Amino acid sequence: MKEAGKTVLVTGGSRGIGAAVSIGAAKAGWRVAVNYVSDTAAADAVVAEIEKAGGEAFAVKGDVGSEADVLAMFAAVDDRWGRLDALVNNAGVVDKTARLDEMSADRFERMMRINVTGSLLCAREAVKRMSTRHGGRGGVIVNLSSAAAKLGSPAQYVDYAASKGAIDSLTKGLGIEVAAEGIRVNAVRPGIIDTEIHASGGEPDRVEKARGAVPMKREGTATEVADVILFLMSDQSSYVTASIVEATGGR
Ligand code: NAP
Repeated sequence: MKEAGKTVLVTGGSRGIGAAVSIGAAKAGWRVAVNYVSDTAAADAVVAEIEKAGGEAFAVKGDVGSEADVLAMFAAVDDRWGRLDALVNNAGVVDKTARLDEMSADRFERMMRINVTGSLLCAREAVKRMSTRHGGRGGVIVNLSSAAAKLGSPAQYVDYAASKGAIDSLTKGLGIEVAAEGIRVNAVRPGIIDTEIHASGGEPDRVEKARGAVPMKREGTATEVADVILFLMSDQSSYVTASIVEATGGR
C-alpha cells in the first residue's frame, strides 16, 4: 500500500482501461474517484469491487466534455478528500469507421469536445489543485493517447487519430510547463486493447481483425495498459515527465 492516503480521479474509470486503473490503483493504496458518464451500474460495480478488497472509492457522474460537469467532479473530490494527487485523463470515444469526406461537423465537434477539450479541462483543474504555484503538493497526470496518434487511422477514423495527436502535444507542452511545479505529465499510447470501445464504434470484431497486424500477434488487455499507467503514477517513474510510453505489442 505504498500510495496510502493519496487520491486519484480516473475519468472514464468505470469500464475498460479506466476500470483496470481504478482497481489497480486502489490495490496500491490510492483512494479512487471513479468518473463515468452514463453506465451507473458499471461504475458502482468498480466501487464495490474496490470496497470489497478494503479500498476506498466513490463514483462520480459527469461528462468530461462539459465544463460545468468537470468543475462539479473536481468539487466532489475536494469535498470528499480535500486533496488531489493524480489525474488519469482516460475518458475517450471513437466513432464509426468512415473516410474523412464522409464525416459530419457534428461528429468532429463531439470527438474533439470529449477527447481533447475534456482532457484539457480536467488537466486544468488538476493543475490548479496540485501545482506548487497554487499552494499544492505536486502530483501526476497521465493522459491516454493512442497508437492512432502516430498511425493516423486512415479510412477508419482520422478524426480520432487527430484528437489523440492533440493529447501527445498536451502531454509534451503541459509536462514542460509544470515540470518545476511538482507535477509530472505523461501519456500512454495503447495499441489494440480488448475493451468495449470497438463495439461502441460499431466494430465489435475489430480486435480479431487487427490482431494479425500486431508484431506480438495478439491484442493487449486493459490490465496491461493499466500497469503502465500505474507505473507513471508511482514514484518509480519520479524522473519521467513530458513523455509518451507505447503499449502496443510493437505496433
Ligand atoms: P471503453 O471501454 O469504451 O470505456 C470508456 C470509459 O469512458 C467508460 O467508463 C465511459 O463511461 C467513459 N466515458 C465515455 N465518454 C465519457 C465522457 N464524455 N465523460 C466521462 N466519461 C466518459 O474505453 P477504453 O477502450 O477503455 O478506452 C479508454 C481510453 O483509452 C480512451 O481514451 C481511448 O481512446 C484510449 N485507447 C483505447 C484503445 C483500445 O484499443 N481500447 C487503444 C488506444 C487508446 P460510461 O460507461 O458511463 O459510458
